[in-house]
Amino acid sequence: MCPTGALSPKTEFDMRAAGTWDESRQTETATVCAYCGVGCTLTVHVQDNEIVKVTSPHDNPVTHGNLCIKGRFGYQHVQNRG
Ligand code: SF4
Repeated sequence: MCPTGALSPKTEFDMRAAGTWDESRQTETATVCAYCGVGCTLTVHVQDNEIVKVTSPHDNPVTHGNLCIKGRFGYQHVQNRG
């Protein structure tokens, strides 16, 4: 964890650099991580039908806003079947 917030997901960094990061066009969907039996709460951030970031609520009594690397970045394995 970066205590200063200087580290950010690469997707967000790249989109901000390209000027395409637009939180007003993003939706947030609550779900549960299925990678392991802990079942952490996830918030999936979607922009233009693509997952751009995964977080966990800071007020969650289990994760306190933290996720392991699989929960935070495993969305690359999600397939869009739409
Ligand atoms: S975020 Fe990590 S610890 Fe939590 S359910 Fe997913 S894989 Fe398990």
